[in-house]
Amino acid sequence: MKLLKEKMLKEGIVLSDSVLKVDSFLNHQMDPQLINEIGREFANRFESESITKVLTIESSGIGPGILAAMYLQVPLVFARKRKSLTLTDNLLTSSVYSFTKQENYEISVSNRFLSSQDKVLIIDDFLANGQAALGLIDLIQKAGSDLAGVGIVIEKGFQDGGKVLRERGIRVESLAIIHSLKEGNIQFAEQAME
Ligand code: 5GP
Repeated sequence: MKLLKEKMLKEGIVLSDSVLKVDSFLNHQMDPQLINEIGREFANRFESESITKVLTIESSGIGPGILAAMYLQVPLVFARKRKSLTLTDNLLTSSVYSFTKQENYEISVSNRFLSSQDKVLIIDDFLANGQAALGLIDLIQKAGSDLAGVGIVIEKGFQDGGKVLRERGIRVESLAIIHSLKEGNIQFAEQAME
């Protein structure tokens, strides 16, 4: 997606060979026009899939997720990272290893919002090693829902997540795929990397 790639080149900060900071438009401050276009693009790509729910993880997935859900005209469910006082029973949970924080955390959704009637589109901001997506897929399986696919804003193609998911036969649509972050430069891949 051209608009996204231009924004990444203009405002993205390469923190290391493996981490990109995009907190001026996605992870801290959010650019509503760009996220609107991101949501529209996901909806276009998955419109024929009869999706009934969009699923993401708080907090950075919520922006792209809610816009995708709006264009698909379905609800957004976001998995929570902490158990809150009002979220106590009927919880489906899974454990996720965080790439950025390098620790395990629990994600959970209420089984009131995912069921065997649902066909679910996962949306997330980044795809690195695929742990967040696999955790969400685990929740979908526990709920007995069907998985329609995974929509990712920025896939780091040099990490394993995309391969792991695609090898399972899962449809992964990434709006920008990074080939390399070496020497402080963002280089894009035109398609998913082997
Ligand atoms: P994964 O679970 O695929 O290993 O990592 C994906 C999650 O880690 C995303 O939800 C995102 O929050 C975070 N993440 C992974 N790599 C990056 C990165 O380079 N930059 C930022 N800002 N977040 C990342």
